[in-house]
Amino acid sequence: MGAALYIHIPFCTKRCGYCDFYTVAGQENAIPAYVQAVQDELARYAADPYIQSLTFETLYFGGGTPSLLSPAQLGAIIERAQALLHFAQNTELTVEANPGTVDVAKLSAYREAGVNRISIGIQSFCESELHFLERNHTVDVGVQGVEDARKAGFENISIDLIFALPGQTPARWQENLRRAVELQPQHISAYNLTYEPGTPLTTRLQQQRFRKLSEAGERALQVLTIEILQQHDYGQYEISNFAKSGFASHHNQKYWDGSPYLGIGAAAHSFLQNRRFWNVSNYTHYIRHMAQGDSVVAGEEQLQPDVRSFELLYLGLRQRKGVDLSAFEREVGVSLIEKYAAPLSRLFDRSFDDSRLNRALTEGCEKIQSLLLTIEGGFLKLTDEGLLVCDAICAEFA
Ligand code: SF4
Repeated sequence: MGAALYIHIPFCTKRCGYCDFYTVAGQENAIPAYVQAVQDELARYAADPYIQSLTFETLYFGGGTPSLLSPAQLGAIIERAQALLHFAQNTELTVEANPGTVDVAKLSAYREAGVNRISIGIQSFCESELHFLERNHTVDVGVQGVEDARKAGFENISIDLIFALPGQTPARWQENLRRAVELQPQHISAYNLTYEPGTPLTTRLQQQRFRKLSEAGERALQVLTIEILQQHDYGQYEISNFAKSGFASHHNQKYWDGSPYLGIGAAAHSFLQNRRFWNVSNYTHYIRHMAQGDSVVAGEEQLQPDVRSFELLYLGLRQRKGVDLSAFEREVGVSLIEKYAAPLSRLFDRSFDDSRLNRALTEGCEKIQSLLLTIEGGFLKLTDEGLLVCDAICAEFA
């Protein structure tokens, strides 16, 4: 199975009020030392025989704002990774970029360094929404970022949008989608705004400085998103992700399909040989520990079978294609239908105690359908209605 490599760049020019990623603002002078530490961490893993047995099919620079790195800094990390690890011929190499941190020259140099996919954090085409989210750019600068990426020769451009802002009407969200489609990116991620514990935005909500959109309002905007993007040939392949044919993100699919992934950098998470572990969420500690030859791993967990099964189920159901029942059984050692017979019986309103039926469903020779779920072609998947209440359905299996 192909693996994924993730490199976390925690630097941002300014913190956005809704963000709960590990990022720091105004510390760009630490970037050179951080870039060196990332290369050193890659070298540590290169000595591991299991890592050497993997073929990496994706490399993803996420953050933070990876586009704060100069082409030389980014290129140095890519070159080092390619020298130390095995990559597939057609590796998908993505960099997340924030508007205002890139121009045509920088993006062209990224391409020369091997980057073949760019993901731009537009978030909204409405100035007041950008202000509410405390983004550090205007609408025009966001649009410019996409146009510059195209001028630089990128043929695989993704944009991120956020919906369900307080007071956001279907008409206003529709206008956002219209502008997004007009820009013709190959990929669009549309995320429902979430209020994460401890963020400044959540504090403002708790202080009742605004009212969040109702759940019904959120769902209406989600339905609108699916409708409009599908009308423009953006297929929904995961709850929040839409792509033109052939442009689904390979990197994200690796997370959702349970592939091994290696995370490099402060706060980066890895999943290898059924073990999840994560690095220290402090860039100064990360740089110092790396320089001193100390471990940067802050914690780990061996995934228990129940945790792993639920994770495979949850990640599979978020995707349109659903959970591959044969792959589930191969990894977990028991058929999904047997393991979750009780919740499935509730959700389908029928019994799953016939082992011949269960085998036929797993092998793809039978199909059964309820309002919310389908088992078809050897996959368990949500229907259109089910996708809108995915979290509630997953809770049934927990
Ligand atoms: S630019 Fe992105 S990573 Fe940085 S603070 Fe804003 S949302 Fe978080």
